[in-house]
Amino acid sequence: MQPNFYDVVIIGGAVMGSSVAYHLLAAAPQIKLAVVERDPTYTRASTSLSLGGVRIQFSLKENIQISLYAQELFSRLEEEMTVDGEKPFLNFRPQGYLFLIDPPGRPAAEESLALQKRLGCEVDWLSPDQIKKEFPLLEVKEFVGGTFGPRDGYLDPYALLMAYRSKAVSLGARYITDEVVELIKSGNTIEGARLASGQIIHSAIVVNAAGAWAAEVARTSGVELPVVPIQRQVFTIKPSRDLERPLPLVITPSGLYFRSETGGLILVGRSLEDDKVGFDFNWDWGRFQEFLWPELAKIVPTFDTLKLVRGWAGLYAQNSFDGNAILGLWPGLKGLYLINGFSGHGLQQSPAAGRYLAELILQRPPILDLSCFGPKRILENRPLKEGGVV
Ligand SMILES: Cc1cc2nc3c(=O)[nH]c(=O)nc-3n(C[C@H](O)[C@H](O)[C@H](O)COP(=O)(O)OP(=O)(O)OC[C@H]3O[C@@H](n4cnc5c(N)ncnc54)[C@H](O)[C@@H]3O)c2cc1C
Repeated sequence: MQPNFYDVVIIGGAVMGSSVAYHLLAAAPQIKLAVVERDPTYTRASTSLSLGGVRIQFSLKENIQISLYAQELFSRLEEEMTVDGEKPFLNFRPQGYLFLIDPPGRPAAEESLALQKRLGCEVDWLSPDQIKKEFPLLEVKEFVGGTFGPRDGYLDPYALLMAYRSKAVSLGARYITDEVVELIKSGNTIEGARLASGQIIHSAIVVNAAGAWAAEVARTSGVELPVVPIQRQVFTIKPSRDLERPLPLVITPSGLYFRSETGGLILVGRSLEDDKVGFDFNWDWGRFQEFLWPELAKIVPTFDTLKLVRGWAGLYAQNSFDGNAILGLWPGLKGLYLINGFSGHGLQQSPAAGRYLAELILQRPPILDLSCFGPKRILENRPLKEGGVV
């Protein structure tokens, strides 16, 4: 094959692109595969700026199955990703996710819990007294209870990305540091991509794994994707007193979340209605003070005094159509595959989504059927319902 001709070209080499690359090469080592990634430091990739949470508590069957797969996988992934005897350290900490439930949210929470249990998940309903006993710092009088997933937790997002990338490289993936400026097509068939350096890379299969930039990339071929970059801010605080034991990830009905981080720190965030749309990475401590701290201190009174250590802003590749993954072949353009729109839960979905897309490309029967996330639903206006935090 000539140098710039590939069987598969992947645009974006963060967690999604690298997971697809790994799964393709693990299943079909002979294929010639390139990943075009413009920023090998991944400074602005959502993957690096993620909280790394893995939770079973979704309300859509397929999202729950994806998380079950991830939970099982994370106990053995370090072994699977070992390259030349070097084992990655993903630092998976199963410290739990606690969703606090208010009276209006109870029916939906019970429905999701029943579905999770039917699918074999470990999730429990906790009464306010049980929550208080388990997590004495929390003030939960205004809640009717909570759902607690003891096997939920978080891992190091950058380590997961690097694990997939290193393994893909060891299997033959070529990472090209460049930017895709245009998708090249002939009629309704994809033919490759033009890079900022002027190079053209040819491939009959192109995967859009460009995260929050996915719509921009797709638009160069005339495809309109409902993927919007929305800025989300996260704050790191240091309580005035050390906690006796780590807090799980706690989510309130308003969407406020917080959890323990290493070093006695706490991470806090909340998606707000007026979060900026666009590629803006500035964060503002005033948002913590005005919108997050009052609610936080109400639920954890000891956080009434604290030190704001730092913050950061990252982008959700928000699927403005239904908040769920867009996964599969774009119906109008032969050869263009999408792995986009993961909103706030893509990290934990990267193993299952990457594997499924590889199976689709290789035309192999999928181990986990994720066809409900196919892009066709957008053209047919069939949104997928996910009641949880997306
Ligand atoms: C603050 C925050 C918290 C989050 N918390 C969680 C969580 O707890 N759990 C969870 O599961 N998920 C979480 N997420 C979501 C998760 O991080 C993302 O869904 C996931 O990382 C998306 O991965 P990706 O590879 O699709 O995108 P990205 O990581 O954004 O990667 C896209 C890559 O494409 C490259 N690229 C873009 N355009 C081009 C181009 N034209 N040419 C070449 N390269 C290009 C970029 O440089 C980038 O490296 C969070 C996200 C944020 C922002």
